[in-house]
Amino acid sequence: MRIGVDIDGVISDSYPIWLQELNRHYGKNIPFIDDYNMHVAFDVTTEDMNDFFETNIERLLMMPEPVPGAKEGIETLLQEGHEIIYITARTPEQKDLTVRWFALREIHHKHVLFTGFGSKVDFVKEWGIEAFIEDYQVNAKLIAECGVPVFLLNASYNQEELPPGITRCHSWEEIITGIQELCPKNL
Ligand SMILES: [Mg+2]
Repeated sequence: MRIGVDIDGVISDSYPIWLQELNRHYGKNIPFIDDYNMHVAFDVTTEDMNDFFETNIERLLMMPEPVPGAKEGIETLLQEGHEIIYITARTPEQKDLTVRWFALREIHHKHVLFTGFGSKVDFVKEWGIEAFIEDYQVNAKLIAECGVPVFLLNASYNQEELPPGITRCHSWEEIITGIQELCPKNL
């Protein structure tokens, strides 16, 4: 299968680092993110938070470690004959940093697509994606509505009830099991 994979919160464990750095910057002590739009929790404008990200982008993209099990999970999927296409909402300007992060962590990254402020659904259709691994439920719903099964990696900010077509997974091991059930011929 051709599998679409998100990066932040799925491959790169970005949010704990971003939360730590935002707490430091804004002088707060917010323990976890329950809203994907972090500016809400910090009670600042999106512009203000975007400025913080732009100013500190190299640190914020390079510091995070991989999500536990992600590197091994990608290797398993490749061994089982799947194709991995990363589809991220990062901007094309962040390509060099993103590729450098993957290379440093020795994680496969042949195809990385950057939507910026565009739609992941367009890439899902254009690239013939057959399953998707995501952590943001708004994207998960839009992709599932195209008939593409989505595996949603559980997070503090995606606790709403899920519609059909989206499977909540609590680990990369659960994601692998779900994909093996979806595509048993690759076992
Ligand atoms: Mg994400």
